[in-house]
Amino acid sequence: MAEPLFRRLALIGVGLIGRSVARVARARGNIAAEIVATARSEATRERVRELGLADRVVATAEEAVAGADCIMLCAPVGAYAALAQAIAPHLSPDAILTDVGSTKQSVIRDVGPLVPGGVHFVPAHPLAGTEHSGPDAGFAELFEGRWCLLTPPPGTDEAAVEKTAELWRRCGSMVTTMEPAHHDRVLAIVSHLPHLIAFTICGTADDLESQSREEVLQFAASGFRDFTRIAASDPVMWRDVFLNNREALLEMLARFMEDAQAMARAVRWGDGAYIEHRIERGRVIRRGLIERKQA
Ligand code: NAP
Repeated sequence: MAEPLFRRLALIGVGLIGRSVARVARARGNIAAEIVATARSEATRERVRELGLADRVVATAEEAVAGADCIMLCAPVGAYAALAQAIAPHLSPDAILTDVGSTKQSVIRDVGPLVPGGVHFVPAHPLAGTEHSGPDAGFAELFEGRWCLLTPPPGTDEAAVEKTAELWRRCGSMVTTMEPAHHDRVLAIVSHLPHLIAFTICGTADDLESQSREEVLQFAASGFRDFTRIAASDPVMWRDVFLNNREALLEMLARFMEDAQAMARAVRWGDGAYIEHRIERGRVIRRGLIERKQA
């Protein structure tokens, strides 16, 4: 087995993603010789201890990063600015500071200016997740066969980028780099907008009067059920994603609403050919995902 990539990996936040990183690092043994973890609440820290996810669980992010050669922010992106402020004075020279946040321009905006000289900042986003959250949710195979996108700011040390890429490869991911603004636009359409639609449609259904609401749940077996799975995601994490990818999300939402209006018009005017054509495009996209093993 290869030597561990890092001496000490500090995980700031141990929910679905932090726990999954801890699990895979434990299982593979070639990612970090030691794992130090922290979370905001004592309840989560206690659970992390019980689950044996880390070698050490400490009360603060400042303590967690001291002496670490890799620090991974695994909290909701809205917490990053305050976390970066707190940890910056305690980061070791030459350490890699990375993250897993779902938005990348905001992370570079909030964390970048606070990173001390000599520390390598390599933002990352593993495109893997479930609707579950918290320290009991993660698992070692979460990243297997999934993409991880790195968005290093210009001038980032090449060796640090490569080491971060290797970390994710050892987690089972395929890795590529992407420009941060491009990342945020792509994710707005493939992830953030679908979540917005799922949250909205569940709200719409919930607003219906009580009799039909019962029927919504009773007969949820069709399309609605898939929306409810996505809509069960963590409210704080998703609030932060929406607020921190505002421009791209609003752009994709506007495009979506135009297309939805066009579909509504086709339904109103009985334009079956239009409707059929749009549905056929959906099938083509689904087939493409299956062929790429991303379904
Ligand atoms: P999660 O399950 O809700 O866990 C969040 C963790 O962060 C918890 O351990 C929480 O501690 C901790 N935390 C929150 N605020 C903190 C603070 N101020 N200081 C220290 N720790 C803090 O969230 P997640 O799903 O793992 O998401 C974590 C990050 O991954 C987010 O940035 C998200 O955008 C990104 N991401 C998520 C997914 C997904 O599908 N879920 C996929 C890819 C990337 P407490 O439990 O004590 O509150």
